[in-house]
Amino acid sequence: MTASKAAKDAGLKNLGVVVDMTEQSRQTLNNWYQDKPALFEVVIAGCAALQCSDKLNLNDRKLKMDVKKEPVYGTHCMMCDHSKNYDEDDRVPESCPVCGEHKEFTILHLDDLQHC
Ligand SMILES: [Zn+2]
Repeated sequence: MTASKAAKDAGLKNLGVVVDMTEQSRQTLNNWYQDKPALFEVVIAGCAALQCSDKLNLNDRKLKMDVKKEPVYGTHCMMCDHSKNYDEDDRVPESCPVCGEHKEFTILHLDDLQHC
């Protein structure tokens, strides 16, 4: 068993990860592993925990980026009262998709409304 193997066993990629996270030299970590095994264990456990929470945060951020965009356009038909919201990538129809009304079919830019 080596310090490097112990780090890998704790779920870390290698001892270099621990060097980066603790800003301790590889030699220091090896010394701890030999002379202060309890300290080394705590350090490795801490690094593994931090690494995990980093990964979670990344997933969180990714999820937030995947969240559906806010609608940008809203349409309303005065004839049949049909209304629907569309986001930027949607193709907004020029006439009411329900009754085909064109003149009384309004397309609102929701961004404009929010700024008012
Ligand atoms: Zn309509």
